[in-house]
Amino acid sequence: MNDKQQLAYKRVNADIIEELRRIVGENNVLATDEDMEPYTHDEVVGLRADPEVVVRVTSAQQVAEIFKLAQREHIPVTPRGAGYGLSGGAVPVIGGIVLSTEKMNRILEIDKENLMVTVEPGVITGDIHRAVEAEGLFYPPDPASLDSCSIGGNIAEGAGGPRAVKYGVTKHYVCGLEAVLPSGDIIRCGGKLVKNVTGYDLIQLLIGSEGTLAVVTKIILRLLPLPKVQVDLLVPFDDFQAAADTVSDIIAHRILPTALEFMEQDSILAAERLTGNKVPYDDAAAHLLIQLDGNRQEAVDADYEIVGDLCLKHGARDVLVAKDRPTRDRLWDARRKIIEALKHESPINHMEDVVVPRAEIPPLLRGMKDIARRHEVRIVCFGHAGDGNVHVNVLKDNIPQDRWEALVPAVTVEIYRLAISLGGMITGEHGVGATRRRYLPMALDETQIELMRRIRAVFDPNHILNPGKIFP
Ligand SMILES: Cc1cc2nc3c(=O)[nH]c(=O)nc-3n(C[C@H](O)[C@H](O)[C@H](O)COP(=O)(O)OP(=O)(O)OC[C@H]3O[C@@H](n4cnc5c(N)ncnc54)[C@H](O)[C@@H]3O)c2cc1C
Repeated sequence: MNDKQQLAYKRVNADIIEELRRIVGENNVLATDEDMEPYTHDEVVGLRADPEVVVRVTSAQQVAEIFKLAQREHIPVTPRGAGYGLSGGAVPVIGGIVLSTEKMNRILEIDKENLMVTVEPGVITGDIHRAVEAEGLFYPPDPASLDSCSIGGNIAEGAGGPRAVKYGVTKHYVCGLEAVLPSGDIIRCGGKLVKNVTGYDLIQLLIGSEGTLAVVTKIILRLLPLPKVQVDLLVPFDDFQAAADTVSDIIAHRILPTALEFMEQDSILAAERLTGNKVPYDDAAAHLLIQLDGNRQEAVDADYEIVGDLCLKHGARDVLVAKDRPTRDRLWDARRKIIEALKHESPINHMEDVVVPRAEIPPLLRGMKDIARRHEVRIVCFGHAGDGNVHVNVLKDNIPQDRWEALVPAVTVEIYRLAISLGGMITGEHGVGATRRRYLPMALDETQIELMRRIRAVFDPNHILNPGKIFP
């Protein structure tokens, strides 16, 4: 996208708003500053941009009509799920229409014969979990934001979550998609099919495309039988590095926990202050939160004995076992609230989401400490260490604004260099969006970026869909 193309976008005027009202109905067009305020941002600190109009769609046909209007008038369209993204993907950085799927929030069918669920994109992910679990079924991907984010946003971001260690991420569960192309054409890919190699895999191309290729309007997800037994371990360590070493040692022992989360002390203390719930051993340097599941109690117990012994071998202070639901929920509540809690601690902060091969977690975390020391800034690490994905929070605290503005890009580049030097990538699950696009050439060579640009141009030759995202 160059400046000329950007300037060539038309502004939304009264006639266009009238036409949008005709397409989606009076109540589903928001055009006042007050009504549109919630759509000016996602969860990225400090990134805001005003939409010119917001439309809340209820069908694929409406999306198609909006695209035809946007093509005719050359107006940018930014798709939006629940607005809980962490890379600015749903923020209308170039203005235009924000297309919200929040009203497409129906679970259409739970097919118990085929082990599939069909949903609209605006369904909150946690609602899918609860609905299928009530039928003894299991949808594993569980972003920590699961009670706020939408499944359409999960698809667009290729979302992961703690259970990715054992069960993989969103892309491993999508069997069918209906999507509307920027041309207004509606495509239906795949179906209730466990296997399908008919032509290029357009489903996997759309997953993780961050709302730049099409708007997803219906989703078929594969389900598993709900595991019968689940155990959670909370393991405090006095030595930050020992906790990091334990993560790679557990994996090296060929035990695949359901989840293997790492939480530095500052993140635990912040979560305690936010929730008012005390976490055991909150004076420890770091905690691991480990979940194991299966269908036989003895098998799960055997795994947790081995994991517990490994933790103790690495110097864990204790291995606390949570077998009942309320205790487990309390532990996970603290983990899920860390991002919000760190925002309370330091309302201005900067979050990265690097991913490295799992065995490189110890040098990655050591390197983060080194970066923090050299730049004299507080860096708090937590996240999905079991799949090599660590969230790195750089906190402003009392750093003066001018020093902070120079520090963030410098620290960001060092964090990326470190991850890449360990065989990693700059984002494991939050996406490139608006916030990381200038750094894309650090991770991908020009040939790959050019190939991706050309794919995007095939879907959207006129650059109306989510401009200002992904590409530098
Ligand atoms: C506290 C917290 C914890 C988090 N934990 C995790 C985690 O564990 N794992 C993880 O992966 N992420 C996590 N996230 C990030 C975020 O929740 C995910 O990226 C989620 O997938 C965003 O969904 P959303 O509905 O909020 O999407 P939005 O923010 O609304 O949009 C995200 C992107 O998807 C596009 N989009 C949305 N709907 C559609 C659609 N129907 N068709 C096409 N494009 C669409 C948008 O254009 C945008 O580019 C966390 C965020 C927070 C705030």
